[in-house]
Amino acid sequence: MIAKVEPLTSARALRGPFDYRLPRRLGQVEVGSVLVVPFGRQRTLGVVVEVAERSELAPERLVEPFAAVEQGVPAELVSLALWVAEAYCSTPARALGLVLAPGTGRGERPRVRERRELSVTLTEAGRAAGAALAGGTGTSDPGAVPPSRLGARQRAAIEALAAGRRPAAALAREAACGHASLRGLEARGLVAVERESVRRRPARPVRVGARGIPGREPTPAQREALAAVVAALDAPQAAAGDRRLLLHGVTGSGKTEVYLDAVEAALARGRSAIVLVPEIALTPQTLARFGERFGEEVAVLHSRLPPGARLDEWVRLRSGEARICVGPRSAVFAPVRDLGLIVIDEEHDASYKQEGDPRYDARRVAERRAAGTGAVLVAGTATPRPESFEALRRVVLPERVDGRALPPVELLSTFGASGTGGGLHPRTAEALAEVRRRGEKAIVLLNRRGWSSFLTCRTCARVWECPHCDVTLVLHRAAARLECHHCGHAEPVPQGCPDCGSVSVARHGAGTERLEQVLAELLDPLPVVRLDADAAGAPDALVDRLARFEAAPAGVLLGTQMVAKGHDFPDVTLAVVIDADATLRFPDFRAEERTFALVAQLAGRSGRGARGGRVIVQAVEPEARALRYAARHDAEGFVRGELERRRRLRYPPFTGLVRIVCSSREREPQARAAAAVAQRVGASLGTGGAEPKVLAAPGATGAGGAVLGPAPLFRLKGRERSQVVVKAADRRAAVAAVRRAVDAVAAERSSREVAFAVDVDPH
Ligand code: ADP
Ligand code: ZN
Ligand code: ZN
Repeated sequence: MIAKVEPLTSARALRGPFDYRLPRRLGQVEVGSVLVVPFGRQRTLGVVVEVAERSELAPERLVEPFAAVEQGVPAELVSLALWVAEAYCSTPARALGLVLAPGTGRGERPRVRERRELSVTLTEAGRAAGAALAGGTGTSDPGAVPPSRLGARQRAAIEALAAGRRPAAALAREAACGHASLRGLEARGLVAVERESVRRRPARPVRVGARGIPGREPTPAQREALAAVVAALDAPQAAAGDRRLLLHGVTGSGKTEVYLDAVEAALARGRSAIVLVPEIALTPQTLARFGERFGEEVAVLHSRLPPGARLDEWVRLRSGEARICVGPRSAVFAPVRDLGLIVIDEEHDASYKQEGDPRYDARRVAERRAAGTGAVLVAGTATPRPESFEALRRVVLPERVDGRALPPVELLSTFGASGTGGGLHPRTAEALAEVRRRGEKAIVLLNRRGWSSFLTCRTCARVWECPHCDVTLVLHRAAARLECHHCGHAEPVPQGCPDCGSVSVARHGAGTERLEQVLAELLDPLPVVRLDADAAGAPDALVDRLARFEAAPAGVLLGTQMVAKGHDFPDVTLAVVIDADATLRFPDFRAEERTFALVAQLAGRSGRGARGGRVIVQAVEPEARALRYAARHDAEGFVRGELERRRRLRYPPFTGLVRIVCSSREREPQARAAAAVAQRVGASLGTGGAEPKVLAAPGATGAGGAVLGPAPLFRLKGRERSQVVVKAADRRAAVAAVRRAVDAVAAERSSREVAFAVDVDPH
């Protein structure tokens, strides 16, 4: 037999798979098996993508693998990975890396999957000896060893064991009963020593936020939504499109309850489920609710887990011991069996797109996987993306579970903002003061970290910029330094201007750090809890801060977009967004969508309890369309208008978009490469059109697509950059054309210094 193997190497130019002869000694080898293979002069890991009867190669050219690695992957995931490689212009090796057991790529084989531990119990005789010890007398059992014959440590061990099984290590610690004493007890038949495997289970986060009422009834809308999911579960033969649902429910409408019931329905049918959440650290509530409902059936997969625990969770899913996987985007590759349901919570969240190669979108991968396995897809949100609104069957939860109205939203112009330093409008300051007076809670969103966004010299107008990127440095006062938010460069806070010697440095703009101080003064003595990437630090810090805000009877949660993510705090009566249209000032076709989602999501955090609530939105241009719709909580109206605009301008979902970024240290090589890529893509996309000459030119548009650019991007991490954007009705054809163009240009001598990044469906 022959195995066709994709070697897990980082070389982009390789064209696998490669054939290997399978000797009998390797045992069963199938699609998804991981082999150690000779590759050139190296040994490398490879994944079997096909098993065949014969090879095209002459027998004497075929070599054999050295060994098989124990943790292979399901064949279903191999084909999913190969699809990802193709669809996102990546390589099979990189895409297969997404589906392998955690840790596989790093060493030659994954670490042992379980820690084994010596565990000790009393035997029958040991229990009798223990009873005798406890009674302080000799024993009536003639077979028992008189306690007097035991050493003090052994006696202590037997007493400790009377309460039940103990790990040997614990006995050594507690009873000073070391290995030799233990073996002595074992030799006398008083204890049994066994090797026991111990799973490294991740700790379940404590639940933050509101608890539902146990035993409560689903609302009629929840019941209908669940019925739609169940009907889809029971119709695996239906077209994949009919099994894809958009659960469009306003904030607080009980979407999570629908997910829970849907997962239960899938399990009841003997199938398993994957639940994708934006970011584990920010969604402890969702994770905890699944843990509470399903206990050991839930496995968690995410990159913050220690490697061993991650592998154990992976193995529990692979073996079917756990049938529910909860995790961020990478959990879409969880090795569950008989996949019946994929839930995508907060489907509008940008974290579903991976930033490094392969730049996959977990939502699209989920669609693909669901189609391939006959699973049902449920994407839930209060602010659907135009893509989902257009493509998925919509099920609506129109009201909050308690029937309460969504909070009124007030739009304020930042022009009126006072000189408080934090950029607060007088009415905002007033509303916050009222929260303080009444001892309530507020959430304030400012999507900018640090103290000041940039510094200038008052004398010569020098601007402090990153030496590696063309951006300004941000002042972080607590850390006493200037930081680049793009590359991590940091330098001390300047005492004066290095250019003109002036000691007068102006600080512009306010970030969360500064606003924290403003709020602390304004709201004293209420606690102000800050939530942003600087405050994050240790993995648990975010959860701790959320818990602190929840536990406080009154106070303010302040932070970047992190504060708008799905939190359910019923006692928040005021939500504020400062500089709400900052996101609109980026030249990006998703700017409107993002702004709308951010404001609508934040607004949804307010007024979830009996006291009701309100929302204040400060913006430079409060008349902006995205803000007006958000103020009315009109997601549907917003998306319909947005879809119209996108149709007119030919943006997704009405066209596919592929972005190519070329970069190099010097300006010239990347600019040349970008121009060459644009030229080639234009030429190959143009061939299908009516007027190839016109379409061939970069910058031209037509039926076959359009090539925009190259356009220079700002320098990043010491690299000059240019981007080319390809718009095409046929995304597959566009991706293929881009791949050919990039491969060809990358192979040219003049491209040696150039790095290419291809992003399909960029964000
Ligand atoms: P969403 O995810 O749509 O924002 P959640 O599922 O978090 O909403 O529900 C909001 C709150 O309402 C939660 O505290 C939840 O426990 C509670 N809840 C959900 N469904 C019901 C119901 N049918 N009856 C009463 N409370 C409910
Ligand atoms: Zn100066
Ligand atoms: Zn930088």
